[in-house]
Amino acid sequence: MSFGLYVHIPYCQAKCPYCAFVSYPLGDAPLDPARYLEALLEEARSHLPEWSEGVASVYFGGGTPTALGPLLPRLIRGLWDLFRWDGVEVTVEANPGTVDERSLTALLEAGVNRLSLGFQSLDDRLLQTLGRVHDRAGALEAFCLARGAGFANINLDLIFNIPGQTLSSWKATLEEVVELAPEHVSCYALEIEEGTPFEAYRDETCDDRAAEMYHLAREILREAGYEHYEISNFAREGRACAHNIIYWESEAYLGLGAGAHSHRPLGPQAARWHNPPDLNDYAQSPGVAAGRTELSVEECVAETVFMGLRLIRGIDLVRFRERFGWPIERFYAEELEHLVSQGLLAYGEGRLRLTERALAVANQVFVRLLEPRRPSAEGG
Ligand code: SF4
Repeated sequence: MSFGLYVHIPYCQAKCPYCAFVSYPLGDAPLDPARYLEALLEEARSHLPEWSEGVASVYFGGGTPTALGPLLPRLIRGLWDLFRWDGVEVTVEANPGTVDERSLTALLEAGVNRLSLGFQSLDDRLLQTLGRVHDRAGALEAFCLARGAGFANINLDLIFNIPGQTLSSWKATLEEVVELAPEHVSCYALEIEEGTPFEAYRDETCDDRAAEMYHLAREILREAGYEHYEISNFAREGRACAHNIIYWESEAYLGLGAGAHSHRPLGPQAARWHNPPDLNDYAQSPGVAAGRTELSVEECVAETVFMGLRLIRGIDLVRFRERFGWPIERFYAEELEHLVSQGLLAYGEGRLRLTERALAVANQVFVRLLEPRRPSAEGG
C-alpha cells in the first residue's frame, strides 16, 4: 500500500494569536524537544513493518519544524533509516524567522526537496497583527536564502481577509509573490478559531471581502501562469503538492506525532485515527491512538466526495465507481441533481467538479454531500 507520511512538530518560536494548531513556543513547551523526537522515532518503529513500504511523500508540518534547528535534519535521517523512502517529495514547513543558510543547506543534505515558507503577508502592519515573528524583509530574505541554498521547489503560504487588510494591500502582496516566482502558492482565508485571542476579531471579518480577495488571487496567479488546481492552491506545471493530493484523493496516510491524524481508505480496514494532542500523553505511549473510527462505506463515500471536489479537476467518476462499486448518483441522486441545476456542480470529461461560481462557497456544496444514501441492490 502506498501512503503519505506526515510528521508533526509541535514547536514554534512564539505562538501566533490566530493559531489553533497543536503547537507551543519553544521556551514554554510542556515537553523537551529532544524527548519528543525520541517519542516520534519510537512511534515510527511501532508502525513497522505494517507501514514500512510504499512511502509516496513525506511532509514535516507543525508547528514550525525549522524551529528545531539542527535536531530536524537529525530526525529526518532517523526516520529515513526506518522508512527508506526514495525519489519522493519531502516537504518541510518553515517560518521565515527560523532559517539561515546553514540550516537550509542541512535540510537539503538530509534529503528535503520542497520548502513551504509561511510568508502569510508582505505587509508589515498585517504581519504584526498576525503576531508573526518575521517581518516583510525577513520573509524576502528567507526566500532568497532558500533559492541560494538550492531549493528548486518552494511554496509560499499566504493568508487573506486579515483584520485591517485592504484589497490593495492584498494585491501588492500577490504581485510581489509573483515576482519572486515560487513554484507553488497557497492562499487561505483567515479562519477565526474558537479559544484563540483572534476571537475578538470575529465581527471584523467579512465574507464578501474574503470572496473579493479570493477572486483577485485567482486572477493574478492564473495570469502569471499558475494552475489553480485546488480551492486554495496554485502551482507551476508539475509542481502541485504530491502530499496534499493524497489527502484530497482520500488515499492512505500515516501521521506521526502529537495530535497527528492517520487514514486507511476503503477496504476491510478502512479507518481514521489520531494521536493524543497532549505532548506528555503522547510521549508516554507513542503509537497508541487517542481515538479511532472504523469507516463505513457511506463515510468513505462522503470523504471521497468532499475532499475530491476540492480539486479543481474534480472527481474521476470511473475511479469512483471502481472504488465503491456504484456510480456516484446512486449515493446522492437528488443532491447532485439540485446542485447541478443550481450551477454549483458540473459534469465534464468523465468528472464531477465545482463550477467557478461554487469555488468561493464550496462549504455550502459540501454540507449537502455529507450524508450519502446506501444504494439498494437493484439498478446500476
Ligand atoms: S508559526 Fe504557524 S503553527 Fe506556529 S503558532 Fe504561528 S501559525 Fe501556529
